[in-house]
This record gives sequence, C-alpha cells and structure tokens, in this order.
Amino acid sequence: MSVLNFYPGPSKVHPRVGEWMQDAFASGILGMNHRSEAFMQMLSQTLDAFRSALNVPEEYRIYFVSSATECWEIIAQSLVKQKSLHVYNGAFGEKWKEYTQRIHPLANGYAYDINEVPYVTESSDDYEVLCITHCETSNGTEIPSGAMQLLRKQFQGLIAVDATSSMAGVSLPWLMADVWFASVQKCFGLPPGLGVMVVSPQALAVAKELQDRRYYNSLLFIEENFRKLQTPYTPNSLGIYLLGRSLTERLNIEMLDVQMSTSADETYAYLTQLGAKLLVANDVVRSRTVIPFLTESVEQTKAIKRFLLQQNILIGNGYGAWKNTSLRIANFPAIEEHEKKQLQHWLTHYFNN
Ligand SMILES: *Cc1c(COP(=O)(O)O)cnc(C)c1O
Repeated sequence: MSVLNFYPGPSKVHPRVGEWMQDAFASGILGMNHRSEAFMQMLSQTLDAFRSALNVPEEYRIYFVSSATECWEIIAQSLVKQKSLHVYNGAFGEKWKEYTQRIHPLANGYAYDINEVPYVTESSDDYEVLCITHCETSNGTEIPSGAMQLLRKQFQGLIAVDATSSMAGVSLPWLMADVWFASVQKCFGLPPGLGVMVVSPQALAVAKELQDRRYYNSLLFIEENFRKLQTPYTPNSLGIYLLGRSLTERLNIEMLDVQMSTSADETYAYLTQLGAKLLVANDVVRSRTVIPFLTESVEQTKAIKRFLLQQNILIGNGYGAWKNTSLRIANFPAIEEHEKKQLQHWLTHYFNN
C-alpha cells in the first residue's frame, strides 16, 4: 500500500492519474510529432480546459513550460531590463531573487514579516517588475486578495507572482498581476515536469518592447509558438495530456476554493485544539494549501514524523529557516477526505499520549 502523502510537493497525485496515463498511451498521442495536427488538437483542448476550470480571463495568455524555476528565469530574461524588486518572507521568494540577481545584478529585494502582507514604498517605482510569492510554501503564508489589490494600485510596473503551491487549489485574482506561474506537482495533483504560466497583455507588450530573443525559452518565442498551438521545443506531451484530462473532470475553481478554505479552517482548528502552535499567528495571511505548525524541539519534529510514518502517513519537514522546528501538511485538492481524517486521528493520538 502506498503511503498517505501530505508532503507539500511533489505531492499526492490525483487518484485517477494511472488510468489517464493508460488512456494517453492507448491513444497514441505520446509518440506524435509536436507539430502534428493530433498534438495541436490535444494542446488546444488542454488550454481550453485550463482557462475554463481556473477562470483565466479571456485576454490573458496561457503557456506550458518545464517548471516554476524556469519561469523565474523567463521573467528575468524577457521582462526585466535591469531591475526587478523582490518582496518576500521566505525561502522560495528569496531564492527567486538570488536567481534573478545572477542575470541582473541590479535586481533587489527586501524581506517582510510572516505575519504581515507585502508592501511597496515610493522608491519601489524605480523598479520594472515586482516579484512576489502568492503562497510561500516554506512557511505557509498566503497573500490575501485585498493586499494584491493594494499592490496593484501602488506599483506602476508589471507584477509577477509565484503561485506554485496555490494555483489550482484556491481561486486567484488574475487581474491583480501580469504574470502568474506554477508547476503541476502541487495543487494540480500531477507528476512533476511541467510548468504553467499565465500572462497579461501588458506583460506581452513589455516583452515586445524588450525584444529578448536570446534564449530558447524567450517569452516572445513561447508566445509565437503557442499562437500556432505549438511549443518552442519538444514538450512534455504526457504532462500536457494529464493536465487537460484532470482539469476537464475537476470542479470549477470557485467551488473548489470554498471546499479548500473549509478544509484548511478545520485543519488549523484541530491543530490548535491539540495544543500545537501554528507557525503563522495572523490568520489573515495563513495559507489554505500549505499548513505549517511549530514543534517544541528538533527531537519532537523527528518524533512526530517517525510516529506518523509508522502509521504509513508522510507529512512535510519544515523548510528554510523553520527546517527543524516546524512541520508542514499539504492541503491539496487530490487529498481525499478520509485521508485527512486518518491524519487527524493519528495526530490526535500522538498529542494525547
Ligand atoms: C515548489 C516551488 C517552486 C519550485 O518548483 P519547481 O517545479 O521545482 O521549479 C517554486 N516556488 C514555490 C513557491 C514552490 O512551492
């Protein structure tokens, strides 16, 4: 029996992935040339399913790439001339800044507290692109829509958002940013190896101005290929097929958002009841998809993980600054109600003994 997987990425895949993989194999699509009619049709269906399931606005473009990390690079290469501004509160946002600085030494950033929302100041207008992390997977914080709206009002340039661990789990305020990206091994419930990028007309206009055509993954090449239902390089066709199948059978994100929010509330509530201390004290910025709690010591961290593994349950280690003193529970859509109940049962057992 495979383990009950609450790891926040790679994470549990949707229970029907095996069946869909068989279908992909049987259909012959996996061996098709990526310039063929059959591939183009499959890509087109996946793009439509994505837009419809996730309510992506008509005017925003959708692209498939290899990973979220690749998106950090695409943004730096194709949308930043000299200076991006990275406002972060944890390890993923900081890593994004460091990657960008290798390409643009003038890229800059600052950290904000995990119990606050990101903010910009007047001097932020010196920067071309604001880079923020919608759900910081390392510490389980989420930027509320109200804060996204405020940033949109206050910042004049493009806004790029890493939504790797929240896209397809909760509904996103698409119009409040110009570039949103994720990879599929988190809330999409799919095997790793595919990144998704959602891009506004303003961002494409900037890309056209900058005319970056230096790289195989320059945004303009991606756009020109996707316009023709093609891709700049031979893509992960199995990943694109699975994405299309899974999104066709999914609840619309607005309804899923309600379920996920309720499920997160319940998890936070029982953790609190058990006497576990939550990592994020301010409930306004708590993530609904990655749920961290603090432990009392490194020994306790290990003991809880070990105890759960004995029950065949895997939860996530802490990450970055909270590596040894917190644990993380994924609250992703592929995880089923009875599995959440199992976890709750055994955590209750642990804390009450
Ligand atoms: C997982 C994660 C990434 C990295 O995703 P890859 O698919 O490995 O590139 C980046 N940002 C955040 C917020 C993540 O959670």
